[in-house]
Amino acid sequence: MNHTSLRWAVLEAARGMNARGLNRGRSGNVSARVPEGMLLTPSALPYESLEPAGLVTLGLDGGIVDAGAGPPSTEWHLHAAILAARPDVGAVLHAHPIHATALACLRREIPAFHYMVALAGGDSIPCAPYATFGTPELAVHVLAALEGRRACLLANHGIVTVGDSPAEALELAVEVETLASQYLAALQVGPPVLLSAAQMVEVHARFRDYGRGHGRGGHEKGGRKPKLPPPDFSGAP
Ligand code: ZN
Repeated sequence: MNHTSLRWAVLEAARGMNARGLNRGRSGNVSARVPEGMLLTPSALPYESLEPAGLVTLGLDGGIVDAGAGPPSTEWHLHAAILAARPDVGAVLHAHPIHATALACLRREIPAFHYMVALAGGDSIPCAPYATFGTPELAVHVLAALEGRRACLLANHGIVTVGDSPAEALELAVEVETLASQYLAALQVGPPVLLSAAQMVEVHARFRDYGRGHGRGGHEKGGRKPKLPPPDFSGAP
């Protein structure tokens, strides 16, 4: 079995979606880049009982390399499109968390109401237009919404996050769901005050500094790509 540690990483992120409250039941899927294309969770199987060998290996054209416990997730188009177009991405996660999905059903983006929105790579977490699940059309919409971002909402559907690793994509998904619940809570009282573009520029600069290890004793992340925010959110300011 190839890619043993990466298979475990995909499986742990898939299991983590339920454990971290992002998913209930069997929705949600996770992929990771491999030289053959990608490892992807199979369709409609409980992740708790899934073995690493059960992951499906596909080329980015959808061709099955190793059927695993297949068939592959119905959202393979989405995973393949992102991995093909974004060489900076090593893993993709898709889930239906309650608060972020509620916003997606309202077709609202998450604006810069909180500085942590910058973790997704821009000044907002956009909402991709609606298309039927599992279609290449949905993949096109999501790819466009992810331009310059690491996360987006999917209208009337859920969220997608990306990262260097499955664990990183999972952590970002938890952050997106937290931001969505905070945004919805603020909206109960009135429209939140949004941070200005200049204030967000400052936040991005600070995150880049943290990503380089400045000001975070013992958290040096040398060699990380500077254009995206740091993956370790546990000590985020
Ligand atoms: Zn879905």
